[in-house]
Amino acid sequence: MKIGMIGLGIMGKPMARNLLKAGYDLCVFDVNPAVVAEVAAAGATAAANARETAKNAEVVLTMLPNSPHVRSVMLGKDGVGAVMERGATFIDMSSINPIDSREIAAELAGYGIEMLDAPVSGGEPKAIDGTLSIMVGGKLEVFHKYREMLSHMGASVVRCGEVGAGNVTKLCNQVIVAINIAALSEALTLGQLAGVAPEAIFEAIRGGLAGSTVMNAKAPMMMDRDFKPGFRIDLHIKDLNNVLDAAKSVDAPVPLTAQVMEMMKVLHKDGEGISDHSVLVKFYEKLSGEEIHR
Ligand code: NAD
Repeated sequence: MKIGMIGLGIMGKPMARNLLKAGYDLCVFDVNPAVVAEVAAAGATAAANARETAKNAEVVLTMLPNSPHVRSVMLGKDGVGAVMERGATFIDMSSINPIDSREIAAELAGYGIEMLDAPVSGGEPKAIDGTLSIMVGGKLEVFHKYREMLSHMGASVVRCGEVGAGNVTKLCNQVIVAINIAALSEALTLGQLAGVAPEAIFEAIRGGLAGSTVMNAKAPMMMDRDFKPGFRIDLHIKDLNNVLDAAKSVDAPVPLTAQVMEMMKVLHKDGEGISDHSVLVKFYEKLSGEEIHR
């Protein structure tokens, strides 16, 4: 199967490597030529522009920052949609607003192109291991056709409904992760101020009901002051903006998301937009004057 892939950042690059390892014929493009060269050295064909990835491709994948990027790459001037083979499939693996996923799918249908939205969870480590959680929206028969290909990038590939359902599920994921990181920051700050070491708290409670994948990944980063991304605050702000937009459109109450969004905006203003989202602990440190440490 010939695959075109656009977007080789923190996530896209290791995902592309896993497709190459699985033996797929992959043609790649990114606006950053250095990452294109890196993935080409691993066996991919380098495209000179986004459109070139679609040449003879049965499927085109994107792993881009947000809706405007996906829209412009697929439907803008020199967009890929116009040159894809009729009957080919577009799979957007970026985390974007589900309303945009549905609109992009409707426009691509005009070119005879099917679309799945298939955002992922798990971050860079799971992208490298090929063990991401992939949440998919789109027609059942299209999902069945590409499930195996997706399984080379993810340990779980679940269809959540029609197109857009993947990104609705991803927004739910991002709400839970953001609020979880805030809760962890709040609890560790309280614990340390009350005289108990964060490390002891983490070891004592991680196996109980409060334990979580978020806690296992983020508590050590907070204690080690290691805020290298991972998942950047600015990308999480993008996701929470999409949550607030989507919530407004269906009249869903999101008071906790709105509060964590305010915290993330403060961190962005403090120059932490490019740090990992575990840097949320610094919001609490700013209020308390207490720095979390081992
Ligand atoms: P990133 O910024 O590292 O990568 C995006 C890539 O897209 C970059 O290499 C950039 O050069 C490229 N790009 C931007 N505009 C382009 C264009 N017009 N044409 C071609 N290439 C273009 O971001 P990432 O961390 O890899 O995230 C990608 C998506 O995956 C985002 O939607 C993000 O929310 C989501 N996501 C990220 C993580 C994570 O932990 N990083 C986890 C799950 C989901």
